Amino acid sequence: MQKDIKDLKVLFSSKEIIEKIKQQAQILNSIYDNNKTLIMICILKGAVMFYSELVKHLKMPVQMEFISLSSYGSYTKSTGEIKTINLTLPDLKDKNVLIVEDIIDTGLTLEFLTKYIKKNCEVKDLKLITLFNKKCARKYNIEPDFYCFDIDDKFIVGFGLDYCGLYRNLDYIGYFE
Ligand code: 5GP
Repeated sequence: MQKDIKDLKVLFSSKEIIEKIKQQAQILNSIYDNNKTLIMICILKGAVMFYSELVKHLKMPVQMEFISLSSYGSYTKSTGEIKTINLTLPDLKDKNVLIVEDIIDTGLTLEFLTKYIKKNCEVKDLKLITLFNKKCARKYNIEPDFYCFDIDDKFIVGFGLDYCGLYRNLDYIGYFE
């Protein structure tokens, strides 16, 4: 299905998003020990803009790690299965680990990843942060520890989120009516 950028409605402006991310960063600064390394795992590609903005405002030493996972095909619904593109993780034993996601929809992706890490990595602490929490679409038993915005069942694009590989570079969040 073709979509056109002129039909995109703004849901959150760049200013609103950045402000909210700064607030979440302050929360993380207050919760984590600012002298201990935090390993932050960015789920590519969608979380990249959120991740890049978030790390700028953190006070603790951050080890930046990236993996590629996806449960969406080219269109606007979850395929119901995980495509693992790159799940190479560093040594996470006894470390504080924070997974950074763009949006939790059905919860499939994060349920898969958290189970995998808990089973294989012996982490000290594992938490999740997401830019958007689409709680109404949840099918798996997973909740973020932190999130910036709750949204209803809209398909959104921008600020890292795509439709058919496009729109990730927008500095705002929009949706197609
Ligand atoms: P889940 O595994 O929770 O069903 O889906 C999570 C992934 O689906 C997200 O990381 C994101 O890539 C994609 N996704 C879910 N909802 C949306 C949406 O509204 N817009 C876009 N662009 N991607 C979404």
